[in-house]
Amino acid sequence: MDEMAHGVALPETPREFGFFIDGEWRKGRDMFERNSPSHDVTVTRTARCTPDDLDQAVAAARRAFDDRRWAGLPGAERAGVLLRTAEGLRWHREEIARWEVLENGKPISQARGEIDHCIACFETAAGAARLLHGDSFNNLGDGLFGMTLREPVGVVGLITPWNFPFLILCERVPFILASGCTLVVKPAEVTSATTLILADILAEAGLPAGVYNVVTGSGRSIGQALTEHAGIDMLSFTGSTAVGRSCVHASADSNLKKLGLELGGKNPIIVFADADLEDAADGAAFGISFNTGQCCVSSSRLIVERSVAAEFERILAEKMKKIRVGDPFDPETQVGAITTASQNETILGYIAKGKAEGATLLVGGEPLESDCGRYIQPTLFSGVTPSMSIAREEIFGPVLSSFHFDTQDEAIVLANDTVYGLAASVWSKNIDKALTVTRRVQAGRFWVNTIMAGGPETPTGGFRQSGWGRETGLLGVEEYTQVKSVHIEIGRRSHWISS
Ligand code: NAD
Repeated sequence: MDEMAHGVALPETPREFGFFIDGEWRKGRDMFERNSPSHDVTVTRTARCTPDDLDQAVAAARRAFDDRRWAGLPGAERAGVLLRTAEGLRWHREEIARWEVLENGKPISQARGEIDHCIACFETAAGAARLLHGDSFNNLGDGLFGMTLREPVGVVGLITPWNFPFLILCERVPFILASGCTLVVKPAEVTSATTLILADILAEAGLPAGVYNVVTGSGRSIGQALTEHAGIDMLSFTGSTAVGRSCVHASADSNLKKLGLELGGKNPIIVFADADLEDAADGAAFGISFNTGQCCVSSSRLIVERSVAAEFERILAEKMKKIRVGDPFDPETQVGAITTASQNETILGYIAKGKAEGATLLVGGEPLESDCGRYIQPTLFSGVTPSMSIAREEIFGPVLSSFHFDTQDEAIVLANDTVYGLAASVWSKNIDKALTVTRRVQAGRFWVNTIMAGGPETPTGGFRQSGWGRETGLLGVEEYTQVKSVHIEIGRRSHWISS
């Protein structure tokens, strides 16, 4: 161990990972090196898998699905594996948190909290594995009985992004497994470690070989090949709207595989004059700064009632100045590093555009000076108009744009003035206003007088160009099933041809 960051040892040599097919580790020939975004030390080496590796992973998942080693088990046995995995995650919590920090740059305290959420995902999905069922139709007349069966879709391809490498994985994997499907996962190239670590934990928990397979590599090569692969029955993709669109084309041009898409957002936070302004400002600061704003549900558009706008922005700016940005291994840090150099450039580019387009910078707006690592102070722009690029485009960084409104209808129009519909939040002590806004703003997830609350019991997903389908909760398991309608004749069928 050559270096320490806040008492945590940085790896002396990068940890080398193979990839995981049919219950076995394979060695990569061509390797990708990942530097920690906070410490500029090479932390991992992962394989750049080839199309042949992908074919083998899909074939293993297909065998494991077709011979029913997983789908054929009682739900209770699948639940047992998921519960033992949850226990395994408890044992490996510190290890997983450390690799999330080293590859992603998020604060260690946040990483630990995310793993607790992942444990809850496995426990919730275990319950769902036991309860998953179809329906029956006792109303078809005395001669006919009907029922619906829920059957697993088959082999699922899962592509995940770099912002929540383990959390997004665990909001999908246990629910896919609960349904009886098998899968091939392709994590983001820069944050593959924890997806690979999960392979061993699942195997220790008793998951049969071939059910969970991991291939690593870039999106353009191995990711694209997975979206086009005719051996995949369903693709679950989480990432940008642009790549989501290319998944739709790939599905159409290959085998019309079913798609689950969780894509981008430009999420409104609507603050009425009658809200608890201190509370709402804390929520707004958290909503834009959590995970350095590299979060699909970041509340990046503040829509605040004009009569309190100046006061609210002052309170918010004061709070944002106090956010502790820095080394993610410092347990006091609230906001860590920007995960990739290109994302850092994108965010700084949008800050420059905001200034050039005439928005007023109230706080932040600069990279923080640091010996190593990329850090940006959470930033607030006021006087933003709907045509500005910081108003319309997903920045995926800690940059909040503030708009002002006079009437409830105007607030709703502003909130819906986007191609996205992922998440939204409204702050008001008036139940009529809060509920009207909740019902009229287009978003798959809504928070009233809170933000980013909730667990794996409730489904997540987007309206409009934020995606298709739902993850987590019972709907999140059903998403990976298909419904078969069955009709059973009771007694003698009346004949078509007379005898
Ligand atoms: P991205 O779309 O660039 O990459 C996501 C994943 O897709 C990665 O694994 C990447 O390797 C892969 N990929 C890239 N190009 C591909 C291609 N042509 N074919 C197949 N796979 C490809 O997104 P990102 O930069 O990693 O993540 C940021 C984006 O993800 C943001 O837009 C954010 O809003 C979105 N996101 C959405 C959610 C959600 O739940 N809605 C969650 C997290 C992130």
